[in-house]
Amino acid sequence: MERVIVVGSGPAGLTASLYAARANLNPLCIEGWQPLGLLMTTTEIENFPGFPEGVQGPELMMKMREQAEKFGTRFVTENASKLDLSGEIKKVWVGETLYESRTVILATGASSIKVGIPSEETYLYGKGISTCATCDAAFYKKMVVAVIGGGDSAMEEACFLTNFASKVYVVHRRDEFRASKIMVDRVKTNPKIELVTPYVPDEFLGDGKLLNAIRLKHAQTGEYRTIEVAGAFVAIGHKPNTELFADQVELDAKGYVECQGRSQKTSIPGVMAAGDLQDATYKQAITSAGSGCIAALDAQHYLEEHGF
Ligand code: NAP
Repeated sequence: MERVIVVGSGPAGLTASLYAARANLNPLCIEGWQPLGLLMTTTEIENFPGFPEGVQGPELMMKMREQAEKFGTRFVTENASKLDLSGEIKKVWVGETLYESRTVILATGASSIKVGIPSEETYLYGKGISTCATCDAAFYKKMVVAVIGGGDSAMEEACFLTNFASKVYVVHRRDEFRASKIMVDRVKTNPKIELVTPYVPDEFLGDGKLLNAIRLKHAQTGEYRTIEVAGAFVAIGHKPNTELFADQVELDAKGYVECQGRSQKTSIPGVMAAGDLQDATYKQAITSAGSGCIAALDAQHYLEEHGF
């Protein structure tokens, strides 16, 4: 019988594992077959405290894993395939293997929604296409970039990017915006931003190594137009990775795991959630790590209260 099983190994899962390990709870982390989360796909991280010179995403994540392991976290490098969180004893399957535990910390993260055209894969992450302006805007100083999307994220990213880029296109598939009026007004009055509607990306263009343009297709007439850009920021939403347990824990209206008050407790006693799967707003490595810490402390208190 395990005392803590952590499902997921991004900043939330590894911080939860570290805290649980240091509390002598001997956690088992189901890290997945593609472990260590979304930061493995980023390059330089300049906003994680403690690294004034910046740190590479994979390096940061491997250090987090090493730190969790140093204090006794055990890892299973496969995906959890099924969860049964209903009873006092929680069940986690990895293929045919069943693990039982008193507590479970869910930290399976979120995936950014992609445009979904083949050329996107060619330039994604470090080659011109990014899904995070907060992370990558500073690499586009005095360059022309585009933001794809018409929600608040797209508007916010476009405004943020004007602090660096010389020009920012906002490409959106409709003439109306889903974003709040105040955000749209801010975008419309910013002299560095040009709205390109109603267009959808048809192909990301470049030399195979770096993006240099996007061919756009008019959503109504089908007419093509190409804009030259060094960077494209895809901001068409995120999807929390909750498929494994969506029918078991309470989710909010947007499909994110609902946590109680300032804790990381879910609707099921003994089950905590941390990181992007319960955060539609901030989605930062440092906030994920913070919630992982809280989740482990909540698990520790639960075990103490129940005498497990
Ligand atoms: P969102 O509100 O779901 O907007 C996604 C946008 O992407 C929509 O404009 C949508 O177009 C477009 N889109 C979706 N799929 C697409 C596709 N395949 N191709 C092209 N365009 C596509 O997502 P979000 O902007 O990430 O915001 C998520 C939540 O966080 C929202 O509730 C938002 O208000 C909140 N948020 C708030 C702030 C803030 O207040 N400062 C900042 C960021 C986010 P359609 O409109 O045509 O569907």
